[in-house]
Amino acid sequence: MSNKQYTKDDMAEDQTLTCRDCNENFVWSSGEQEFYAQKGLSQPTRCKACRAKKKAMRDAERSGAVERKMYDITCSNCGNPGQVPFEPKTDTVLCRECFMAQRAAQDPQA
Ligand SMILES: [Zn+2]
Ligand SMILES: [Zn+2]
Repeated sequence: MSNKQYTKDDMAEDQTLTCRDCNENFVWSSGEQEFYAQKGLSQPTRCKACRAKKKAMRDAERSGAVERKMYDITCSNCGNPGQVPFEPKTDTVLCRECFMAQRAAQDPQA
């Protein structure tokens, strides 16, 4: 009765991981492990709930439902004040118009 037939599905066992966001333990099932392996992904760092939350946040940002933090800048090309959705790391920062114009010039196919 303990003569269990081992298949390749028995290779992977459910793993308990700790979510980096909420510090809760969550189960990374063997089925998910297989899926991750097939996709060449590394093991998840967040539980399903936190991943869903993250995804919802990203989707909301993308759809404009959540206002993105904007940073005031002075365009280094035209000198006009503008806003960018990222923290400028250098002095060379372009307003939206100049950025679009520059990108269009660099990549005419875009
Ligand atoms: Zn979590
Ligand atoms: Zn400009």
